[in-house]
Amino acid sequence: MFALKKILALPLLWIAISMYSCGPKVPDQNWQKGNLHTHSFWSDGDDFPEMIIQWYKDHDYQFIALSDHNTIASGEFWYELKSRDIENKALEKYQKRFGSWVESKNEAGKTLVRLKPFEEYKAKLEDPGLFSIIRSEEVTSSFENKPVHINVTNIQQKIEPFRAQSVLEIMQKTIDAVLEQRNRLNIPMFAHINHPNFGYGISTEDMKNLNGERFFELYNGHPAVNNSGNEDHIAIELMWDLINIHYYQEGKPLLLGIATDDSHSYHQQSPKLSNTGRGWVMVNSKSLLASDLISAMEKGDFYASSGVQLKKVLYDKEKLYIEVDPEEGGDYEIIFMGYQKETDQVIELKRVKGTKGVYQFQEEDIFVRANIHSNLIMDPLSTEPEMQKAWTQPLIVN
Ligand SMILES: [Zn+2]
Ligand SMILES: [Zn+2]
Repeated sequence: MFALKKILALPLLWIAISMYSCGPKVPDQNWQKGNLHTHSFWSDGDDFPEMIIQWYKDHDYQFIALSDHNTIASGEFWYELKSRDIENKALEKYQKRFGSWVESKNEAGKTLVRLKPFEEYKAKLEDPGLFSIIRSEEVTSSFENKPVHINVTNIQQKIEPFRAQSVLEIMQKTIDAVLEQRNRLNIPMFAHINHPNFGYGISTEDMKNLNGERFFELYNGHPAVNNSGNEDHIAIELMWDLINIHYYQEGKPLLLGIATDDSHSYHQQSPKLSNTGRGWVMVNSKSLLASDLISAMEKGDFYASSGVQLKKVLYDKEKLYIEVDPEEGGDYEIIFMGYQKETDQVIELKRVKGTKGVYQFQEEDIFVRANIHSNLIMDPLSTEPEMQKAWTQPLIVN
């Protein structure tokens, strides 16, 4: 088992050894900003795919995945405008932005608009080398009253939601179906477990028992997902650490943390709605091909953010170095967290105020990660202000 852990740790460390050990001439990291969890009229979002994609393009994202519930946005779908959409002027805004591209008709007093399928909206809005559109599905199931939602990034063929005898069984069947499709088509894709604390559907124990799962949502911008837990349920970040202690002990690759918007509402801004721009990933990749982004993410070469941007995340055999890309008025704290030998929890190892921090690995460290906190508020509209953060991925260091 020891050998296996070493093998899993190596690619992560290897990436940056050369970058960090060559002194100040560190090559730039190529951070690509993306959101992997978004909804449109194809399921329960309140706007057209192109309008949503255009928002992300206009706000300096480099990739997006629309992940509608139980669909991969294929085939013919004439969407019937609802009164909510008429109030939102969704069609007028769409026509204003996309003109004759829009296909609509009136039938029996109803307005129907043809939703462009994935291939069409991708061809229209993708900019090779600048902006990438990745196919996704939020495979949406439940067990009793517990929601079980799993996103599949770069899915090619729709996966039907599973029904089974437990939350764990539904999750494992979904992950197995993703791995089967990936192997059969020889196209990289991955499952990520969504918002475990939504309806408190997915427990730490469920997550510990999974096989083949590499990613989950450490942060989700939807107001109903309980990222911080409650008196009876732990916060997602603590869940992450407990799962990874277990995965490490079992010789499984560590679980990596993603931040997403899970956006549904595009016409009104409110902390009570799931809006755009709250959670994203920054992937270190020169290329925007889905296969390259996935490969970088699988190596752990990305961080999750709810506002804090980083310039550098570098590491070698001895140390982890973090450098913040500061915003005006921002004060930052870099908090190194770690799991050490002979312990059963992740603890704070070192805290640095400012925009640069380095942590020298200790003999007793097993895995180390960093949280970066800002004094800037994430959502100025929020009545309960949440501070902007970033999270780097755990590195196995010994
Ligand atoms: Zn969901
Ligand atoms: Zn969702």
